Amino acid sequence: MRALPPASRTEGREALMLQIPCPWCGPRDEIEFIPRGPVASRPDPSTASDLEWTTYLYQGANTRGWLREYWVHTHGCGQLFVVTRQTLTNEIAPVEGEPAAPTREDAP
Ligand SMILES: [Zn+2]
Repeated sequence: MRALPPASRTEGREALMLQIPCPWCGPRDEIEFIPRGPVASRPDPSTASDLEWTTYLYQGANTRGWLREYWVHTHGCGQLFVVTRQTLTNEIAPVEGEPAAPTREDAP
């Protein structure tokens, strides 16, 4: 039997916990996952300036709206995958098709 969230977290509304759609395991509670940041292209280390590295590492876009971000299913299959989430409402877009492994250049 699944435990209900504490009443203080629901306050008469739906539970506040996100349901993350793992492409391998299906929808699971967000406490099973760790967010790994927005999808961004990593600069080439052999040519990037200090400013480019600083911007890449520390100055995220703080997107208002739909954002593609990495999540790891740490308490499940352990896979890294991309979720598209609306940052204002936490709505999550359906995962379409087969999961695609991120490239080395895109890894957080
Ligand atoms: Zn999973």
